[in-house]
Amino acid sequence: MRLFEAIIDANHRAVAGDASAGLHPAEFADALPVIALTCVDPRLNAFFPNALALPGEQFIWLRNAGNIITGPLSSTMRSLALACAVKGGEEIAIIGHTDCQVAKTPTVVLLDRLQALGVDRSRLPDNINEFFGTFGSERQNVIKACNFVRSSPLIGPKIPVHGLMLDIGTGKLDWVVNGYDTLHSTAQPPMPKMDFAALGAAGAFKDFAMGEMKFPEMKIGEAAAKPPVVQPTQVRMVATPAAEPPKTPAATLPPMRKKSSPPPIQPRPRFPGKY
Ligand SMILES: [Zn+2]
Repeated sequence: MRLFEAIIDANHRAVAGDASAGLHPAEFADALPVIALTCVDPRLNAFFPNALALPGEQFIWLRNAGNIITGPLSSTMRSLALACAVKGGEEIAIIGHTDCQVAKTPTVVLLDRLQALGVDRSRLPDNINEFFGTFGSERQNVIKACNFVRSSPLIGPKIPVHGLMLDIGTGKLDWVVNGYDTLHSTAQPPMPKMDFAALGAAGAFKDFAMGEMKFPEMKIGEAAAKPPVVQPTQVRMVATPAAEPPKTPAATLPPMRKKSSPPPIQPRPRFPGKY
């Protein structure tokens, strides 16, 4: 059984009431540490890394609102790449959760709240959904993020990229994407070399600048050294359900417009009532 298969198995046993459910991290030393991207929802604080039955030092935690990845070269993707290369991350998991407020906030409400914060609509891109990467389905958002990571030129083919969904009420984890199955999906055919300059000129990755792709001024050999596995004993699974999961009815966002490239980000005339 591979690491995340063991994690899911132990998680399900723990949620079912097995107080002894857990992992022996030493058995999975080659797959640790893991990198997890989750949402900023504070209800998740109590679940990690307990829900994965991993010791804290084997858990590299990235968070953003909605666990969103907006593209194969996005800022979050660069953090994932550095976490692999500098911190020795061996596997990546994109972990969405039920009742995500990013999915439940309609575009018109988002714009109203931004406006209430003093954000000038005319200085925002036309397509807010595409710009922020907002979504209506937590599950589809995880699948999309996994696809971006798997296809990113910044992430090598050796890193499994998993997609999971956490039930915010129970702490139960379920597969969305089994990264072991898709591990070599980009190997056949090989990824074409990405022309960053052309992409930049086309505006496809407006915020990407090769000048920013500097490696940290440190001894990479030292920094990438694998941290020792210090907990040979079993780490028990702790399912910590949220006290009162909200029962808000699901809201759907308008369908995202299909565009070949994001809109340019620059001041634009205001169009009252457009949204
Ligand atoms: Zn969320």
